[in-house]
Amino acid sequence: MLGAIKAMFKRGETVADPVPEIPERARTTVLDTTPKIRERFPGVKHLAINLTIRAPFQEMEPTLNNRSLGPDSVAFFHFRCKNPDCKQGGFDLTKDLEQAIAQRQQSAAGRQVCQGFRTGNNMNHQACHFELNYKVNISYD
Ligand SMILES: [Zn+2]
Repeated sequence: MLGAIKAMFKRGETVADPVPEIPERARTTVLDTTPKIRERFPGVKHLAINLTIRAPFQEMEPTLNNRSLGPDSVAFFHFRCKNPDCKQGGFDLTKDLEQAIAQRQQSAAGRQVCQGFRTGNNMNHQACHFELNYKVNISYD
C-alpha cells in the first residue's frame, strides 16, 4: 500500500504541477481503497488534528490546518508541504497516530521536517526543511 503511494509520488514528478501531490486520478483511488477510521482504528470516536507548517529560518506566520475526523472519515494522514517549490515532500502522521492510538493516548504532539527538496533557479536540489508541528486529541468509545 505504502509502496503504491510512493510509486504514485514518483510518477507525479513528471506532471507539470508545482505542488507535489498524488495526481487527482490516483488520489481518488487511494482514498477509495484507504480504510475508514472505524476500520483502521476500531474504538476511536474522534480525532482532532491541529497542524502548523512553517518555513525554516523565517519569521513568517505558520500555516494552520485543522482536521476533525470521525469514525467514517478516511484514515489518510498525509499532508502536503506548504512550500510551493518543494518536490517529493510532505508529512505523514500515520505512524505517529498509530502509536498514540495503540497506547490509547488522549493526546499526542510532535514535529516533522519535510524531506523533500526545492527546485527552481539557482537551487540545486536544496533540502526543503519546512517544519510541521502537530497536536492531536483523540477520544475513544
Ligand atoms: Zn517540503
